[in-house]
Parts: sequence; structure tokens; C-alpha cells
Amino acid sequence: MPSGESYIQSIMDIVKSRNVGEPEFLQAVAEVLESLLPVMDQSPKYRENKVLERIVEPERVIMFRVPWIDDKGQIQVNRGFRIEMNSAIGPYKGGLRFHPSVNLGILKFLAFEQVFKNSLTTLPMGGGKGGSDFDPKGKSDNEVMRFCQSFMTELSKHIGPNTDVPAGDIGVGSREIGYLFGQYKRLRNEFTGVLTGKNIRWGGSLIRPEATGYGVVYFAQNMLATKNDSMDGKLCTVSGSGNVAQYTVEKINQLGGKCVTLSDSGGTIYDPAGIDAEKLAYVMELKNVRRGRIKDYADKFKGAEYLEGKRPWGVACDCAFPSATQNEISEADAKTLVKNGCKLVSEGANMPTEAAGVEVFLNAKILYGPGKAANAGGVAVSGLEMAQNAMHTNWSREEVDARLKYIMESIHTQARQAAERYGMAGNYVAGANIAGFVKVADSMIDQGAV
Ligand code: NDP
Repeated sequence: MPSGESYIQSIMDIVKSRNVGEPEFLQAVAEVLESLLPVMDQSPKYRENKVLERIVEPERVIMFRVPWIDDKGQIQVNRGFRIEMNSAIGPYKGGLRFHPSVNLGILKFLAFEQVFKNSLTTLPMGGGKGGSDFDPKGKSDNEVMRFCQSFMTELSKHIGPNTDVPAGDIGVGSREIGYLFGQYKRLRNEFTGVLTGKNIRWGGSLIRPEATGYGVVYFAQNMLATKNDSMDGKLCTVSGSGNVAQYTVEKINQLGGKCVTLSDSGGTIYDPAGIDAEKLAYVMELKNVRRGRIKDYADKFKGAEYLEGKRPWGVACDCAFPSATQNEISEADAKTLVKNGCKLVSEGANMPTEAAGVEVFLNAKILYGPGKAANAGGVAVSGLEMAQNAMHTNWSREEVDARLKYIMESIHTQARQAAERYGMAGNYVAGANIAGFVKVADSMIDQGAV
């Protein structure tokens, strides 16, 4: 049998040749496969059962035309996708992203990450992801509704509460989930938990909007606790200004930290006085209701600066929370963060750090929580939303928040212990990949060659 290293290399070669032009997918697969080297060496069953060969291949990829009519009466055409990556431990589960950058490779990377993330949550959820290159920015509510209805007309043929349960992601918030749910219900004549992130009035869960951001900060708290430290008094930088960023700031504030940045694709605002609850309420109104740009924050609040075209990573901090998008921390940004004294990175976004940047964090031995562990709180509460829907019940805020905290602690423990078991103590990247993999891989073996 070839060595573990040459075996992993041979799998990577196949993945590269089969997925040409999909750099983000290759990046995500390479990171996981590298972490699995010690597991392959110790457990030949995974090789014998061709688990890696299977796990890198989506179970199903659905790609479709989404025609819709704009406010001028013109036909527009977008492309829709759903990647059903792995259903070994439950129905496919993962968000929908509406952003002009969406393509097959980006959604495959997200779906692949989702498989391991969902496994770490301890809940029975497989991995999936979907979306469209549709850009909700600058569109009227009616245009967004017509797009969502057309998108769901096709997607409804492939999803269901026991098959595939999508949720939100970039560009898909409560407005879009509402339109998507309404169309599914109309087409199928079924009121079911086919989507999560629903409004609390019609089947949603309390704490779902907060869950990803809160979870990212709970994960940071768990990492800090290993050093007998806490969030209290920590100077924090956050990127993005959408769902994840907003509730990350809220939880940092609640735990006594101070957050000094937010951003969007136009630039960063730096507010040395801190983004307190009142300023955060302004950001929520600006972003969620008026759908404006973060630049306005600097005009509104004295002492705040707008750094046009910049990301927040040049601002000195104790803790950084990337919460915008993939590859938003380059190797140079990672070096700057470490040089300026950053001791913790907890990733709200998926794969926000380039591979070379991850190496910088690992070599510096800072507390580095990769997205698939740190941001799993969102999908975890989506899992709790599914459970409440199935039981026709609603849990209180306190109950859902307590479960979220418990799940984040459990993810932290699993990642930490797996890293220790394989001789990589403190490496949450390897720990999360290994712990997430083993449950899915063993389940795939149990279920035979499917
Ligand atoms: P939102 O659409 O609510 O917000 C996205 C934010 O990121 C916006 O401020 C947006 O700015 C910024 N952004 C998006 N793309 C880019 C880009 N290419 N360059 C710079 N800034 C960008 O999305 P979410 O907050 O839901 O998602 C943020 C991240 O968190 C994503 O990586 C997502 O996959 C991840 N995530 C989300 C979960 C959830 O529950 N929502 C769960 C787990 C992970 P602009 O308005 O200018 O585009």
C-alpha cells in the first residue's frame, strides 16, 4: 500500500483533474485532506472503502436556468445551483447564496465545508449548498420576489424536509427566505420545515438570526478559556456588516469586549470609541432596512473614519472576527494581524483566510478557530429549527441559546481533543477536520458503496 502521503497526493491529483477552474473547491479539499494524513495512516478501513474518493465527489449537482421579469418588463436570466454533497448522516443541509460571484466551484467548496461542519454540530444533518449569481443589491422588493419565485419553481423539485433543507447565506436573509418559502408552499401545497431561517411568525426559531455571530464569539470564549482568559476588555476587529458581523458585534459587546471595525465590499469603518449598542442599532437599520453602504456610518458618527477600499486587518486588535467572505485575509494580512498583537482569530465567514494565511496563524500559535468549527452555530440552530418544526413546538430564547452554547462548547471540545489525539495539540484546523470527517466516513462505510 502506498504511504499515506502519496495516497492523499493521488486523491488530490484526481480532484485537480476533475475540477478544473474551481480554485476555491481545490483549496477547501486540500486543507481537509492534509489534515487527514494521520487518520489514513492509522485506519486502513478508510482507504479500503474508498471513502476519500467518494467524499470529494458531490452526490448530486443541480444546475438550472432562472428566468425572471424585471421592473421594466424585461426578461433577465440567472443561473441557479444546488450541490447535494453528502447525506451520510442526515438530509442535505446548507445555505443559499445570492451574489454575482457565485459559480459552481464556490458552491462546491461551501458544500464540502458544510459536510464536516454539520457533522461537528452533533446534529443529524448532511451537507449541501446552493444559490445563484443573482445580485439582490439595487433590486426592488418586487424584483427580488419574482426572482425568488422563479428560483424556487425549479429548486422545489429537489428539496424537502427529509431530503434537503436550504437556509440563508450571503444575500439571502429573512426577506428572501420568506419569498422562497411562500413559493414552495404554493407549489407543493405543504406547510413544512423545508427551509430554515424562517420568520418566527411562520415556523422560525428564536435565536436563528443571532446564531452564527453569537456562536463565533462563544467559540472564541471557549478558546480563550483554555488560556484562563475571557472576552472581557478585548479589542476586536470585525469584517462584513451583514447578518454574521452584526450579531458578532452584539455578543462581543455583551461579553465586555470592544469592537472598532465593520466593512462591506466598498471599504471599512474604524471607530476607535467602539461600536456600542446604539451604533449597532443604526448599522442594523442601515443594512437590513435601508440596504445602504457602511460608509454612511462614518458620516453619522463623529470620530469614525472610512477607509475606502480597505479591509479591517491593518487595525491593531486582540481578536479578529472575519465575517464577510472567502479569502478575505491574505498571507500579508495574516502577518500584519500577528505583528500587531492579534492573539485570536475566530472565523464567522467560510474559508476567509487564504491557505498561506492559515499557516501564518498556525506557526504563530495564536488561537485560530477555522470557520467550519467557529461558525457552525448558524447551521446548528437551523438544526434546532428543524427539530422544533418536526415536533410542532417553539422553544424559548433561553432554551435555544443554552443549546447553542452547549453545541459550541462541544464542537470546541471535539476539535481540541481530536488535535491532541493525533499529536497536533492546539491545531483546531486539523482537529475540526478530523473530528468532522470520522463520523461521516464511518457512516458512509456503514451504508455501503452508495
Ligand atoms: P450577508 O449577506 O448578511 O452579509 C455579507 C457581508 O459581507 C456584507 O457586509 C457584504 O458587503 C460583505 N461581502 C460579501 N461579499 C464580499 C466580497 N466579495 N468582498 C467584500 N465584502 C463582501 O451575509 P452573512 O453575514 O450571512 O454571511 C457572511 C459570511 O458568513 C459568509 O462567508 C457566509 O458564508 C458565512 N456564514 C453565514 C452563516 C449564516 O447563518 N448567515 C452561517 C455560517 C457562515 P456588501 O454588502 O458590500 O456585499
